Amino acid sequence: MLEGDPRDSDARRTLQRVFGYDSFRGEQQEIIEHVVAGGDALVLMPTGGGKSLCYQIPALVREGVGVVISPLIALMQDQVDALTALGVRAGFLNSTQGIEERRRVEGAFLAGELDMLYLAPERLRLDATVRLLDRGAISLFAIDEAHCVAQWGHDFRPDYLMLSELHERWPKVPRVALTATATPATHEEIAARLNLEQARHFVASFDRPNIQYRIVPKQDPKKQLLQLVNSEHAGDAGIVYCLSRASVEKTAEFLVANGITALPYHAGLDARTREANQARFLREDGVVMVATIAFGMGIDKPDVRFVAHLDLPKSVEGYYQETGRAGRDGLPSTAWLAYGLQDVVQQRKMIDDSEGDAAHRRRLGAHLDAMLALCETVECRRVQLLAYFGQAGKPCGNCDTCLTPPASWDGTVAAQKLLSTVWRLANERRQKFGAGQVIDILRGKKTAKVIQFDHDTLSVFGVGADLDDNAWRSVIRQLLAQRLVSVEGDYGTLVLTDESGEVLGGRRQVMLRREPERARAKSGDASGSGKSRRAAPVDLPEGALPVFELLRAWRGATAKEQGVPAYVIFHDATLREIAATAPSTLAELSAISGVGENKLAKYGQQILDTLAGKDPSDAQPPEDLPFGDEPFDEPPFEDEP
Ligand code: ADP
Ligand code: ZN
Repeated sequence: MLEGDPRDSDARRTLQRVFGYDSFRGEQQEIIEHVVAGGDALVLMPTGGGKSLCYQIPALVREGVGVVISPLIALMQDQVDALTALGVRAGFLNSTQGIEERRRVEGAFLAGELDMLYLAPERLRLDATVRLLDRGAISLFAIDEAHCVAQWGHDFRPDYLMLSELHERWPKVPRVALTATATPATHEEIAARLNLEQARHFVASFDRPNIQYRIVPKQDPKKQLLQLVNSEHAGDAGIVYCLSRASVEKTAEFLVANGITALPYHAGLDARTREANQARFLREDGVVMVATIAFGMGIDKPDVRFVAHLDLPKSVEGYYQETGRAGRDGLPSTAWLAYGLQDVVQQRKMIDDSEGDAAHRRRLGAHLDAMLALCETVECRRVQLLAYFGQAGKPCGNCDTCLTPPASWDGTVAAQKLLSTVWRLANERRQKFGAGQVIDILRGKKTAKVIQFDHDTLSVFGVGADLDDNAWRSVIRQLLAQRLVSVEGDYGTLVLTDESGEVLGGRRQVMLRREPERARAKSGDASGSGKSRRAAPVDLPEGALPVFELLRAWRGATAKEQGVPAYVIFHDATLREIAATAPSTLAELSAISGVGENKLAKYGQQILDTLAGKDPSDAQPPEDLPFGDEPFDEPPFEDEP
């Protein structure tokens, strides 16, 4: 669409020269031109959509310093390093700095020696910061992670509320607010709270087609996870989310015991450990981070190949944000969630126990209901997800329900049996029981507890022997999702809802999803879909794999030497293209996406040397390669001082 565009704008030249990319993606060009011209913008774009360029390029094209407000203090150093590697003059001001370092950055800002300045929102509360900004020339304000201003969402930060004042204080400076999470409600709230109603709103499609969404019944979650990693993501970087700190620790230990490089991350670890683990995850290849949701916002590691949830997320917004951390580089990635009845019990209880008023609890309940509906849908997961964000979609062919369509079955009678058991326990016996006991009664199991409570004398005892435990659990989960039954209290007592009567009275049919056989197999394919197996590195012609590995080894050593994440040097996608096309001159190399002016000057010759040291056509098995004593005389990076 943009190819052959005769206008060679400053924005486009910057895109090519600094970032090494040929063309804009999606609405980037429009957004950038709007902001370059001084307009305000609210940008809703999924993770990996390319939001950063939407303020970085205008900051480079416009006079003055682009001020980026970001809550992600721990990541500012990496963001600045990434820009520096591109030849952009960037700095940050936050609480992690010493006074000298801060003075240096402030001096550079005032002297006009910066293109971009990153600021934590709480800094704006300080008069000194405001005065500093007043004395410099500001090209724009970028408000990153703008959903933090919204209370409806899941990441509210009080400091963000002050950002509404930017406009009053600096009326001439354009503002661009960006977020990857926005239901229509959050969108509205952001616009209102940041005074961006008059701004132009750019709403991209939230689809992430390269991510395969899969949701499976939880059986033995750690084992299921291990199976997923071993069968589809061996050696890949990934994030595993758990609800509690304890399960983070246990899961990380379990993975390590099974030979996987895994690290824990949660708010209970001391800051130094957290930082060290995050740094390893970002810098090393193939680390699995096991974390609570405290981890991940702003993590822009492009090659996270899978995001796994071992517990049910609290909202679809949170889930989408978390899974969105997979595959920012556009390559195939997996979002995998295991969920079970116990998750629902636990979360209902957390909601019941939560502080805050009834409206707050209702809001949490609505979030949970939407999440359950997603888990139990018989439709395409992606269609359902996009619908949640107010966008239409077509069945995607890249989610579990598309790949292995679940059969649906008429579960009316099963539902009646279950609801009637719940009714009898509550009304005939005045007793409270959870799913386990109800299933034992339905299946006619004479367990100690069944005998103790005389439940074998109930008229419903044994009426559900036609379904096994897993099938009954699935029925209960789906009735929960359809709000035909609910759970309450510490032990997850099953209780009827207002709508249960319609089913019991035969006035409502209940259609249920039958779990695809594969997902229900005992210990079998826990991944829930066999067709999806990813052929390791994508798009590499025969023989190019060793070259790619060679380039990766070069990149790893270079990154280590400079103390920056490997992707700051080059992304996988760029190395892959280099390996596939084997450029032999700097000019050829510069045509590759992701090779801008600065990186060409800095690394171009090293890349060519690396390539020349190994002829791709006489490929060797990768084990023999990276820097054994054989194929090269000297790896180029070792010559560097
Ligand atoms: P977001 O902040 O929206 O999650 P990023 O700005 O980090 O996304 O961009 C995601 C990835 O896409 C990055 O690796 C970035 O370098 C790359 N990218 C962004 N825009 C382009 C483009 N026009 N051409 C090629 N790659 C791009
Ligand atoms: Zn689908």
